[in-house]
Amino acid sequence: MVTKRNNVQIKAVKLIQRVLAALLSRPVSIYYRDEPMMALYVTSSCQLSCQECIMSHLMEKASQYQMDIEEVKLLIHYSELSKYKFHYRLTGGEPLLWKHLLEGVRLLRLSDSCMSISIISNAINIDAVTNELVEMVDCIRVSRYLYNTKNIALLRKKYPHKILVAGKEKFIKNPLEKVAKALPVECNNPELMFYNNKVYACPHSKSISIQAGVSMIQSNDIGENFKEGLDRIRHNMEEELCSRCISNTPVRKAMEKILNISGSNPNPERLAKWYKPHFRFK
Ligand code: SF4
Repeated sequence: MVTKRNNVQIKAVKLIQRVLAALLSRPVSIYYRDEPMMALYVTSSCQLSCQECIMSHLMEKASQYQMDIEEVKLLIHYSELSKYKFHYRLTGGEPLLWKHLLEGVRLLRLSDSCMSISIISNAINIDAVTNELVEMVDCIRVSRYLYNTKNIALLRKKYPHKILVAGKEKFIKNPLEKVAKALPVECNNPELMFYNNKVYACPHSKSISIQAGVSMIQSNDIGENFKEGLDRIRHNMEEELCSRCISNTPVRKAMEKILNISGSNPNPERLAKWYKPHFRFK
């Protein structure tokens, strides 16, 4: 529950972020914890296969998935009809491999439902980062691994005000089994997720449920007032799914960190810098 005190704190943090962004001429965050966020799972395609990727089970199961432009239009139509507004985030898979990237972003940008658009990327297919795309989005958050620093430097140089870098050399691995004492849930990911004409109560449950072999209601079909009932759905999956999810703080604390070297030819010097004996190599 968001209390009055929390509200003041959230506003203060956002003000600081805005001032910092202006001073640094670059985005400092893409999370809006007190405002609605909608992740669009736009493609299962990815150049990497990071063992820690929480979405890998969905990516494997629906390996050919590319969000159709008609799906985007439906999401926009029912969001506007229901008077919903979202901070949209393109995820996957690797969103820069989405076949309808430019058209999809253009449609979202033009919608009354759009508060902002960000893209979560591995910064490998940077040819897809055109001036036109960058103009339409608020932020491209790139994950820094051991092997994509050159591409990130290029992007930062060209678009300093739109590129946000998140260090992902080290990762907390998602568990394959339920973690003990994972309840009560402290979820740090308030997003919804749109995938295959369904709106999911959270962005991770679909992939986790595939890995765990758990079958339960996780989503509403896209339609008018599609958010109704999603809080209850989220609550109902805590025992089975949140106890296997690193967005749940008790689970996160219980898991080991591993070094991400899923890309080929990581730079040996950077590898040595990050290597610690307790890291498990792939
Ligand atoms: S902790 Fe639960 S609600 Fe939060 S992202 Fe993970 S599975 Fe979803």
